Amino acid sequence: ADIMKCSLCKTNPKIYYQRHSGLNFCKECFIKYILKRARKTIGRKNITKDMTIIVGLSGGKDSLVMAHVLKELYKPIPNTRIIGVMVDEGIEGYRKEGITHAIEFCEEYNMEYKIATFKETVGYNLDEIVKIAKEKNVNLNPCTFCGVIRRKILNKVSLNENADYLAIGHNLDDIAQAVMMNYIKGDINKLAILGKDAGSSLFVKRMKPLQDIPEHEVLLFADLIGLNYHKDPCPYSSISYRAEVSDIVENLEKKHPGTSYSIVSGFKKLIEHIPVEKNMSICKYCGEAGSSEICKSCALLENLGIRV
Ligand code: SF4
Ligand code: ZN
Ligand code: ZN
Repeated sequence: ADIMKCSLCKTNPKIYYQRHSGLNFCKECFIKYILKRARKTIGRKNITKDMTIIVGLSGGKDSLVMAHVLKELYKPIPNTRIIGVMVDEGIEGYRKEGITHAIEFCEEYNMEYKIATFKETVGYNLDEIVKIAKEKNVNLNPCTFCGVIRRKILNKVSLNENADYLAIGHNLDDIAQAVMMNYIKGDINKLAILGKDAGSSLFVKRMKPLQDIPEHEVLLFADLIGLNYHKDPCPYSSISYRAEVSDIVENLEKKHPGTSYSIVSGFKKLIEHIPVEKNMSICKYCGEAGSSEICKSCALLENLGIRV
């Protein structure tokens, strides 16, 4: 076989060598491959008419690639609504640019969108929350706040829109990191939630179309289709525990290609055996769904003495 040619169509020049499979891809075959992979992840039964999907858009490569892929896969399907939601956490010098990219994307793809802010939802933006936490000597990672409040907002918008699914742009590496983080912390409950839906009508079901695609392939795809996405990292990301775990997994992956795949596939086998705790209740403060009588978001804010 010609090593300079695509292993699939055997005609076009190769632009990518996939280490774990040993296959060469040309541009066209790679783009088709990614769409096929995402279609398989989403599942045939979910690519059907009358669907409403809320898509969380940060403006970064993952969320925009996901939105592009969903738009492509649902193009031939009648009566589907794909709605972008940008969550403005209020991170100075960072988030506005991401939202600008997301808006440009939605306009180009003719996609309905909404913008929701931390400020209007919990009364404070993330920078303010981080500052208050510092002043009160509460040692909490900004990403913890950010993730909890963002999830709350996206769930709320999804329920308001009667959405069938909330689509999240996590790629294979993100999932592998999350799995490792929860293993390392010994947080089996979180591990179980990661792999399964809460199974409650108070929480919208989630789909992760890119969950089986490694980060570098998402990046390559974004560049091949000429996506204009937000490239800067969040100023808070480097101080996260996730960043440390990410380094470990990345190093392993470099030396042992396929590590992320095996972390995730092992995890999938394992979660079949972990029961999800299903004690759903309504938060006594905000009236929204939670796993105890005070939801995580309200609990974090209460801990800082700023619950509104
Ligand atoms: Fe939020 Fe952390 Fe992501 Fe920044 S890196 S947007 S603080 S979760
Ligand atoms: Zn080809
Ligand atoms: Zn609450």
